[in-house]
Amino acid sequence: MSSNMYEKELDAVKQALHEAARLCHSVQDRQAMIKGDKSPVTIADFGSQALVCRTLREAFPDDPIIAEEDSTLLRAEEQTDLRNTLGMHLDAVRPGTLLEAALKWIDYGNAEHYSDRFWTLDPIDGTKGFLRGGQYAVALALIEGGKVVVGGLACPNMSDDVFLVAKGLGATHGQHRIQVTEISDVSKARICQSVESGHTALGDIQKVARDLGITSDRVQLDSQAKYAVVASGDADIYMRLPLGNGYVERIWDHAAGALLLSEAGGKVTDCKGNQLDFSRGKRLEHNIGIIATNGIVHDQVVEAVNTLNIHH
Ligand code: AMP
Ligand code: MG
Repeated sequence: MSSNMYEKELDAVKQALHEAARLCHSVQDRQAMIKGDKSPVTIADFGSQALVCRTLREAFPDDPIIAEEDSTLLRAEEQTDLRNTLGMHLDAVRPGTLLEAALKWIDYGNAEHYSDRFWTLDPIDGTKGFLRGGQYAVALALIEGGKVVVGGLACPNMSDDVFLVAKGLGATHGQHRIQVTEISDVSKARICQSVESGHTALGDIQKVARDLGITSDRVQLDSQAKYAVVASGDADIYMRLPLGNGYVERIWDHAAGALLLSEAGGKVTDCKGNQLDFSRGKRLEHNIGIIATNGIVHDQVVEAVNTLNIHH
């Protein structure tokens, strides 16, 4: 990417993602702890968040960071083994890292509220994929005035190169520009979706696919790797249809991927066809589900989804 107003931000994102991906890759012990909300978390989630937040804080000391994890679990007295293992992994990537410093870096990510300029981070998006040896992503984005302006995804089980994007400058994967497909016959489109039936209504996606005459097999993968796949032209549609259990999407699960896709020529809205609203704090409070496409087939997909009874 040539010289531009987000050069410093893109450099920081690239460095942070490569460093975090190295740590995630080195964590062989795929044991999960269960957080209060029943979702899994691993050493790699904490290590990734520590490294990324440290890089951001050094480069942009005034920018708040809304990240998924915090250090509470790690600080519990009985978690000595966990702390030691984390320290060992961080030391391998950043020699001389002190554990107390690492806990502080993790908590740089504990901003809660919307502000005019802030970062959002999912240190491991698709933790369940990571645990299964499937896809996962380190996902980082900068939001200004409620719009995503810079983003990056590392998908270590897909590629050693990171995906980078800045508003108005296009989307890249390593040295290459990426671009969505030009498929206009929706029946020929390939759909990607979550692996986890607890994250998306797989049955509803099946109904929409049938309605659109799509016969190809769904591409199933965890994390925002789905946005990367559509942005790279390896699939045409990513649908995330709500289960009706009250879940509201988190900003860190979509910010980087959504900009990557729109800069690659695609389109991202919620299930009603509304733009994603990143100005509501941690959650996409004003949106329901996600529809992400090559742009050309977008309206047809939104229309088909809306023949279903969609609610949170
Ligand atoms: P994926 O890998 O695309 O299936 O999505 C992983 C993300 O799903 C995680 O980062 C969670 O934040 C998010 N998630 C957790 N519970 C739900 C839910 N009930 N509905 C939708 N997404 C969820
Ligand atoms: Mg996530």
